[in-house]
Amino acid sequence: MLAFEKKPAILCYTLITDNLAEMRLSKANKTYLIYAGLGLITIFLYALPQPDPKGTFTQGLVNIFPYPLYMGFALVGFLGLKLNQNRILFSALIYLCVCYLLINPLTLNSIGISLYGLYYMIGMSFPLTLAIMFSSRGARPLDLPNIGKLSFSLFPMILFGYFLARDKPVFSKIAFLKIIPGLTPNNNFFLPQFALFALAALGLVIYFQRDRIKPFIKVLGLSMIPLMGTIWVVLKLFHGFLKEHSKFKLAELQEWVATTFPSIQVIAAFTVICGILLHAVFQMYWHRVYVDELTDVPNRRALDECLSGLSGEYAIAMMDIDHFKSFNDNYGHDEGDNVLRLVGSVLSNELGDRIFRYGGEEFCAVFKGVSAEDAYMFANKVRRKLEERDFYIRKPNSKREPTSAFDRRKTKKSSNGKKVQITISIGLANPNKKSKTVEDVLKLADQALYQAKRKGRNRVVIWENESVKSAV
Ligand code: GH3
Ligand code: MG
Ligand code: MG
Repeated sequence: MLAFEKKPAILCYTLITDNLAEMRLSKANKTYLIYAGLGLITIFLYALPQPDPKGTFTQGLVNIFPYPLYMGFALVGFLGLKLNQNRILFSALIYLCVCYLLINPLTLNSIGISLYGLYYMIGMSFPLTLAIMFSSRGARPLDLPNIGKLSFSLFPMILFGYFLARDKPVFSKIAFLKIIPGLTPNNNFFLPQFALFALAALGLVIYFQRDRIKPFIKVLGLSMIPLMGTIWVVLKLFHGFLKEHSKFKLAELQEWVATTFPSIQVIAAFTVICGILLHAVFQMYWHRVYVDELTDVPNRRALDECLSGLSGEYAIAMMDIDHFKSFNDNYGHDEGDNVLRLVGSVLSNELGDRIFRYGGEEFCAVFKGVSAEDAYMFANKVRRKLEERDFYIRKPNSKREPTSAFDRRKTKKSSNGKKVQITISIGLANPNKKSKTVEDVLKLADQALYQAKRKGRNRVVIWENESVKSAV
C-alpha cells in the first residue's frame, strides 16, 4: 500500500520494486536488466570527480588496463569460434578494433580521421555492421565464401571511413543529417541522428532473429548502451573543446586527449561490454553442457548433479511417454522428435527447474523439500495438462526449427489437420525407512512407473509402503 505521506523518492522506489516483483521476470531477462544497469552506470561515471589525468594512478590504469580488455575480446572470439559460431568470432574481433580505436582516438589522425570524425563514424556504422552481420542465419564452416559474407558486414564502416578520410562533405551530410529537429548539441544531444537509425536497424534485426545464438545477439544489442553512452560523453566534452578552440593545432588536440579525454570512462564502458559478452558466451557453453539439445530441458548430467546434492525431504517422479514406439512407427522419427519437444515444453512450463530429460522418451522430476503427497498433486496436474493439449501432425514437407515459439505457433497452420493425443505415465517415490539413498528412491519411482503402465497408462502412481495409490 502506498501512503501519501511517503517521500517521493521512497514512493518511486516502492513503485519500481513492486512492479518489478509483479513482472516476474525470467532468469534471462533479469540478467539482461543487470547488463543494461551496468551499462548505464558507466555513462554516469563522468559526473563523478575525475582523478588527475596526469597522476600515476590514471596513467597506470590507462596504460595497462586496455591489454586485459583486448585479451577479453579475443577470448570471446575464440570461444565463439569453438562454438562453431563465426559471427561471434567476427563481432568480437570488430569490437576489439573499436575498443582500441576509441581508447586511442588519434590513431587514424594521420589519414585524416580526426577524433570527432572517428567517434561519429563508429556511432553510425558499428550498429549497422552488427545488423548486417546478424541479419541472416550463420553458416558453419569458416571457408572463403563465408568469410567474404562476414566481411561484407564491414561495408558501412569502410564506406564511412572512406568518406571521412577522402570526401568530408559527403560524410558531413550524413553525420549532421537532421531528421528530428530538436536533437542537436544545443539541446544536449551529441550523437549523430543517423546513429539512431542504425540502432533502430539493429533493434529490428535482434527482434526478428530466430537463431540459436539469439541470447548473444541480444547482449550485443545491450552493449550499445555503454558504447553509445561513451560516444555521447566524449562528444559532449569534445564539443566544449571545439567551442574554445575553433581552429586548433594537433598539439592542442593531443594535449586535450592527455588531460581531458575521459579515458577511465571509456575503459569502464568497454570493461562492462567485454564482461557481458564473455558472460553471454559462457552461458552458451553452460547451455551446451547442461541442457538437452532436442527438448531444451536440463539433461541427464544436470540431473545427476541435482541428485547428488539431495537430502532431507524430497520426491522423485519418473515420467514416460505412452506408446511412443508406435507413434514413431506411424508418423516417423521427426514427428516423434516434435512430440518430445512438446512434452519437454509442457513439463518445464509446469514444473520449472524441477524437470530433466532422463533419456529417450523418459523425463525425471525432482521435488526438493516436498512431500510425496504434494509432489503427487504437481505430477497429476502436469499429466492432465498434457492430456488436454492438442498435437497436430505436420504436413510431410513442412519444416520448423526446434525450439522457437514462433514456429510452434505455426504448427497448427502447417499441420495436415490430424490431431493426436499424447499422454504420459508417472511413477513417484520418496525416501522411506528401507530405501534411504537417492538410487533406491529412483528404483522405487521406476517400479511405480511400471505399475502405472500396467494399470493402463496415462496415470500417476505413487510408491507407498509397498502398496500403490494411483490417479487417472
Ligand atoms: P510404453 O507406453 O510402454 O512406454 O510404450 P513405448 O512404446 O513408449 O515404450 P518403449 O520404451 O518400448 O519405447 C520407447 C521408444 O522411444 C523407442 C524409441 O523409438 C523412442 N525414442 C527414444 N528416444 C527417442 C528420440 O530421441 N526421438 C524419437 N523420435 N524417438 C525416441
Ligand atoms: Mg521408455
Ligand atoms: Mg514409453
